Amino acid sequence: MLTNGNTPVEELKGVGPKTASYFHNMNILTTYDLLRHFPRTYLVFGGLKKISELKDGEIAAVRVKVDSVGSLRRVKNKMTILPVEVSDESGHMCIKYFNMPFMAKALRCGAYYVFRGRVKASGREYTLVQPRKYAYDEYAELSGMYQSIYPLSKGLKNSQVVKAVRSALDKADFTDDYLSEEIRERYDLADSRNAYRYIHFPESEEQAAKGRRRFAFDELFFFIIYLRKNKDLITDSPNTCPMIESAEVSRFLEKLPFRLTKGQSKAVKDMLSDMCGPSMMNRLIQGDVGSGKTIVALTGLLNAVACGYQGALMAPTEVLASQHFNTVSDLVRKYDLPFKPALLTGSVSASAKKKIYESIASGETNLIIGTHALIQDKVEYKNLGLVVTDEQHRFGVRQRETLAKKGIGPHVLVMSATPIPRTLAIVLYGDLSVSTIKDMPEGRSPIKSCVVGESYRPSAYKFIKDEIAKGHQIYIICPMVEFTDEEDDDPELKNVVGYSEQLKEELGDRYRISYLHGRMRPADKDNILTEFAAGSIDILISTTVIEVGINVPNATVMMVENSERFGLSQLHQLRGRVGRGSAQGYAIFMSAKTDDKTKERLDILGKTCDGFEIASYDLKTRGPGELFGVRQSGDFAFRVADVFADADLLNAASELADAILKEDRHLKDDKNKLIKEEAELFGRNNLDFRTI
Ligand code: ADP
Ligand code: MG
Repeated sequence: MLTNGNTPVEELKGVGPKTASYFHNMNILTTYDLLRHFPRTYLVFGGLKKISELKDGEIAAVRVKVDSVGSLRRVKNKMTILPVEVSDESGHMCIKYFNMPFMAKALRCGAYYVFRGRVKASGREYTLVQPRKYAYDEYAELSGMYQSIYPLSKGLKNSQVVKAVRSALDKADFTDDYLSEEIRERYDLADSRNAYRYIHFPESEEQAAKGRRRFAFDELFFFIIYLRKNKDLITDSPNTCPMIESAEVSRFLEKLPFRLTKGQSKAVKDMLSDMCGPSMMNRLIQGDVGSGKTIVALTGLLNAVACGYQGALMAPTEVLASQHFNTVSDLVRKYDLPFKPALLTGSVSASAKKKIYESIASGETNLIIGTHALIQDKVEYKNLGLVVTDEQHRFGVRQRETLAKKGIGPHVLVMSATPIPRTLAIVLYGDLSVSTIKDMPEGRSPIKSCVVGESYRPSAYKFIKDEIAKGHQIYIICPMVEFTDEEDDDPELKNVVGYSEQLKEELGDRYRISYLHGRMRPADKDNILTEFAAGSIDILISTTVIEVGINVPNATVMMVENSERFGLSQLHQLRGRVGRGSAQGYAIFMSAKTDDKTKERLDILGKTCDGFEIASYDLKTRGPGELFGVRQSGDFAFRVADVFADADLLNAASELADAILKEDRHLKDDKNKLIKEEAELFGRNNLDFRTI
């Protein structure tokens, strides 16, 4: 275990106040946070190539002579381009530096350098764009090394993260590993000290994979420890918030303009009988996107409120929380429901928050809707009877513990649209009873999906324009937010900010285009989403933040860029954002990757709209192949582990946790002291509620 993990990042060598503030923006406050800020991918310093061997799009290094340094050209937006002609015995090529006029002085004509950068080919003309320059000896030393590429925030450079991580690792003090050597051998796991080294500074692909494997194991292991603890908290706990089936519920359901589906009715029945039964409820409602879970949850909350309790509805994002708040407010008006709701999110002003806290404490507010902030320390409930967590990706495994610490034990209902195969569900949802909604509301036509390559782009844009002309709205999803360290990033990956600029140029001023991503201020995110919901934005370009739960029935097209970067279940979730109204919904999955495997994997989306079938296919086919890259599975939002690809580790972790807990249920033995400490540290840092 890391013993000096609490050291603030600003105390690390080379981290000044400014860099520290960039780290703080990413919620990296301590050495522990920093060391757990894992690379999202690696670049290899490959061997030197000849100019004639270069391929379009690759990152390559060449050793070449500088033939001439051209004169600086000024182009629009005050940008400068410095062209440099270079050659080796196989041919010549051009190097371009954007906004780096000083390179003119750094290069000597006639001298040899190694340049490493992205190759661009047009016809037989090759260009290296913005390459980094090395002396030959310098490059020879780096050759074969892996360079970690970290998630960055605005202002922060990759090299600064590398430096900080290195100095954190140099200083890191470890106690003994909580896993004995015997156990590590049994499950083929690196010791934790090495795991940090391997994941941040691997010398080979195997090492990187080994580091990753250990962290994935830890994550799953502690997650399961908390699951078991949860189960202990629940088992045989008598119903301290007893309810009766209120007439309000049937009155409400009768007034709705539609009838509940079979699955919805069963879920409502399960839920009510739990809350009116002898023990506390701990139930999961599982149902594909669009299966109508919200109304089920609201029915439960209505029953709680009608029985004189308070209810809380928690969402993973502020945006989703406000949407729920609006839905509830509408229903209250329409159906005269006894809800007195309040919206409580991180962006509510301090004075407004204080008022809300007071009205919660007095019981005046009987339905609290918000993000995780609402179960934080300050909130005191008068008589909380039911907590509903929407779209929980199992982050909230410590929720019951947190509530118990506050001295309350309400009924708990969680809702998830992440369909997972039974074998996984048994482990991941082991602490919950499950209701599954299998059927869809009547009259929904399945979303028409297609998987296409670059050549389809013009048709895709034309299709989008036609849909907008019909008064509909469009989502476009990109895997990245924006490039902050261009040299190291993969320009093939579409980023939200750059893409919207491009699209504005491509489509012209007629269209109202906006973007949304997780690093925007919550209030800005809310504004954009509100505008989109109101129909005043035609095309919303977004990262997967919109994945969870947003309901804008007028949106009909979901286009996903770099689809190969996402897990199938995640793509299925994304397309669930369209086709929610009466008009036909369409999903366009773009992928520049045309190999058979990618195509075959994505094609399943065109063949079925059944989330469970897609999840099973995902489980069968997703290997630990692409270990890094943009997170493949947003499914369970583990940082490292991927429940599909790491199904074997999940079983190993569960086997070990059970073996240990069987002997020592509360981890009181001396020999399990390290596990207990590490679990607490891990739980504090990783398993609480988080907002996106
Ligand atoms: P999800 O399960 O993805 O959370 P929602 O609860 O957001 O789905 O429901 C999607 C849409 O379907 C909402 O507009 C909701 O009003 C509508 N809906 C829910 N249940 C039914 C039903 N039984 N019949 C028709 N429409 C329904
Ligand atoms: Mg929902």
